[in-house]
Amino acid sequence: MSIEVKNITKFYKDQKALDNVSFSIKKGEIVGFLGPNGAGKSTMMKIITGFITSSKGEVLVCDFNIKTKKINAQRQIGYLPEHNPHYLEMYVKEYLLFNASIYKIAKIEVDEIITKVGLTPESHKKIKQLSKGYRQRVGLAAALLHNPDVLILDEPTTGLDPNQLIEIRSLIKEIGKNKTVLFSTHIMQEVDAICDRVILINKGQIIADENLIELKKNQEQVIEVEFDYKIEKQFVETIPNLKSAENIYDTSWLLVFNTTKDMRPAVFDFAHDQGLKTLKLNTKNKNLESLFRELIPN
Ligand code: ADP
Repeated sequence: MSIEVKNITKFYKDQKALDNVSFSIKKGEIVGFLGPNGAGKSTMMKIITGFITSSKGEVLVCDFNIKTKKINAQRQIGYLPEHNPHYLEMYVKEYLLFNASIYKIAKIEVDEIITKVGLTPESHKKIKQLSKGYRQRVGLAAALLHNPDVLILDEPTTGLDPNQLIEIRSLIKEIGKNKTVLFSTHIMQEVDAICDRVILINKGQIIADENLIELKKNQEQVIEVEFDYKIEKQFVETIPNLKSAENIYDTSWLLVFNTTKDMRPAVFDFAHDQGLKTLKLNTKNKNLESLFRELIPN
């Protein structure tokens, strides 16, 4: 396992920020750590990376205990903290060379990383002159310098514009081909775009840990349909695979099916058999975001 989190509890004074959290991440997985603000994501990441200690439980990174073998564990970790703090007056390359000197890494490797994260055109600028997207690249480059096996990225796309977002997402996906990645976000689409797996956290507790393909499979299918005449619910309920039917107004219905098979033909057939005409039919498939909302109600 690349990361093993066992029964982690964290108190900030009296407040329990993490409550008996356990999960493990295999080598090579890209895992989205998803939850609303205040769920405990940053706290968990700070504990995994050894920046703060847990109140109870243990964390192993590449089999090294983060409390008792901290340096060995941290050698395996590249960490991009939330808000990505930088020395703004430093030049990009100067900053990365400075970091590299701490790790005793050769200049040539710094050049390689600059190319890898797409920083070449901006590498002569001061960090304060860079856009947020390029600042994130600098943070990613710094996290990658010592070629760690495990990347911990805390909300790496927050505050990026749509283009930067796409670029950073694809960069993470590319980097994730050879590394284990745990990255946090409160945006479901992000997990959908990048990850193999999602760990959902709310109020300090893990509430779902799912393979994304499985998660998508388990989704319901929602169809909104309008017929030309009113019909009794008991007839509508004869449509196969129906989980629920709601008469939203007059001749319109919201039908929820417990299958991923396309049920539109069945709805058309039903209307035909009942001597009705179908005036409108929309699929309103639940996306991962609505599932997220369902699991994490406000
Ligand atoms: P997330 O990253 O999911 O937004 P955090 O881990 O930052 O969540 O926060 C979890 C909870 O712990 C929140 O209620 C937050 O206010 C609290 N918290 C985080 N850091 C501290 C701290 N240093 N001192 C006290 N409370 C904290």
